[in-house]
Amino acid sequence: MEEKREMLVTAIKDGTVIDHIPAEKLFEVVSILGLEGLDKEITIGNNLKSKKFGRKGIIKISDCFFAQEDLNRIAIVAPQAKVNIIRNFEVTEKRVLEIPDEIAGLVRCVNPKCITNNEPMTPRYRVVGRSPLQLKCRYCEREMSAAEIKLL
Ligand code: ZN
Repeated sequence: MEEKREMLVTAIKDGTVIDHIPAEKLFEVVSILGLEGLDKEITIGNNLKSKKFGRKGIIKISDCFFAQEDLNRIAIVAPQAKVNIIRNFEVTEKRVLEIPDEIAGLVRCVNPKCITNNEPMTPRYRVVGRSPLQLKCRYCEREMSAAEIKLL
């Protein structure tokens, strides 16, 4: 039974599989990768049973390989996600997500008075903590914990 369920979500010929996404973060990952606008075959499974997380999400994207820089953005909301590169139905590469030193865009500053919330400009953050994630706004210096992070 277990094996059958796995097969339903992992069988793609070539592409990228992002697994072990916490269920509540799945659609944020979709948004971070810009999958809404992607003209590829995409399968999304959510609330799948996982021994590790209780409920997890998985995304598989056929014929699409992301730059490491783009994959690293996933770590902002789902640092424990696993990324597998599939070629000819085999996992040929496992990518490790690394939180970048700096984040541009993506995240809204928690400070409503911050210039980035009031002017059309790209917010920028320094990563001051990785586990747990802690960001510091380059403009207003306000720090944000992982729980406070809201995507733009
Ligand atoms: Zn700010």
